[in-house]
Amino acid sequence: MIKTDVLIIGAGPVGLFAVQQLGLIGLKAEVVDNLDKIGGQCIELYPDKPIYDIPAIPECTGETLTKNLLEQIKPFQTNFHLNERVQEIYKEQNNWKITTSGKKTFLAPNIIIAAGVGSFEPRKFSVKEAEKFENNGVFYSIKDKNFFKNKKVCIFGGGDSALDWAIELSKFADVTLIHRRPEFRGAEHSATLARQFEKEGKLKIKTPFQISSIEGDNKITGITVKAEDGKVEKISTDCILGFFGLIMKLGPITEWGLNLDNKTIPVNTENFQTNKEGIFAIGDICTYPGKLKLILSGFHEGALAARGCFKLARPNEKYRFEFTTTSKTLQERIGVKKK
Ligand SMILES: Cc1cc2nc3c(=O)[nH]c(=O)nc-3n(C[C@H](O)[C@H](O)[C@H](O)COP(=O)(O)OP(=O)(O)OC[C@H]3O[C@@H](n4cnc5c(N)ncnc54)[C@H](O)[C@@H]3O)c2cc1C
Repeated sequence: MIKTDVLIIGAGPVGLFAVQQLGLIGLKAEVVDNLDKIGGQCIELYPDKPIYDIPAIPECTGETLTKNLLEQIKPFQTNFHLNERVQEIYKEQNNWKITTSGKKTFLAPNIIIAAGVGSFEPRKFSVKEAEKFENNGVFYSIKDKNFFKNKKVCIFGGGDSALDWAIELSKFADVTLIHRRPEFRGAEHSATLARQFEKEGKLKIKTPFQISSIEGDNKITGITVKAEDGKVEKISTDCILGFFGLIMKLGPITEWGLNLDNKTIPVNTENFQTNKEGIFAIGDICTYPGKLKLILSGFHEGALAARGCFKLARPNEKYRFEFTTTSKTLQERIGVKKK
């Protein structure tokens, strides 16, 4: 059980800045994200695209913004719990007890939901056997490529992830790349390289084919794929990898008794608290009259939610407004002034 002042759901830009605002006023936060990386939409959807409307930063990419936000919260030595989806929350006296998909539990008087458009989840194989073999032969991401060494691997998908992993794994595994369309939609140079590998006998490519069944009892022994014209082929394989992109799901958030308005959470604009005491919502997930789904709005929302959290985390203390430019206390917290 991890005890903290605030549990933040979502390591997107808004969750990250909330860590800084909490840290400045002396509150400790733990951050949970369903993704395997920090940065939310900025990293998952547009890491290389320039952003032009972050205050005082004329231009930066999603990746640079994330890097800078992480640099700014370095003094607070925040723990990130990645690959964990917050599943359940319930009240335990003055605290919220929070459980994740990986069975981690947290106890905190405050929760800040900075969950954007919901958790990013891989689009899955539609054949019914896929669920049974998930993580035991059926995968949607690669944590350690060495796991696939000398194995027979079928990779499905036509985008960058499918192409890049097919090329990479073909260096040490027997790889078949399968896509439902004749053309790949990933980067042209990757598609060309994959076709070149095919000619050199390093990689097999099957298009246009789709999976129709998975065979095996305790482990996968093979799959059947089907072409548009009805032609069927059996392929012997140890595992299959699906790279069909991500979908965003509000997921468990809908089951926590929070008021919802069209997949967003209504909040009051005084402290961004939801209809539940101690649960705040900021960033893309929250709604109120005039809400703008912009990163800069999320930063402001995080600042006010942090002050809201202070009341419950330090009920016997009075919050004092201070500037970072002039407050010795704040400067000590960010490590620029020695105690
Ligand atoms: C292509 C594109 C371009 C954009 N350009 C701009 C721009 O120029 N300027 C601008 O201001 N904004 C821009 N935006 C919008 C901006 O990216 C969002 O406003 C911002 O990312 C919202 O941040 P957030 O932290 O609220 O949520 P997100 O970035 O969505 O992060 C939320 C995180 O929460 C996690 N999560 C959700 N549910 C759970 C759960 N139950 N358990 C664990 N983790 C969970 C998700 O996995 C995700 O990582 C753009 C968006 C896109 C898609």
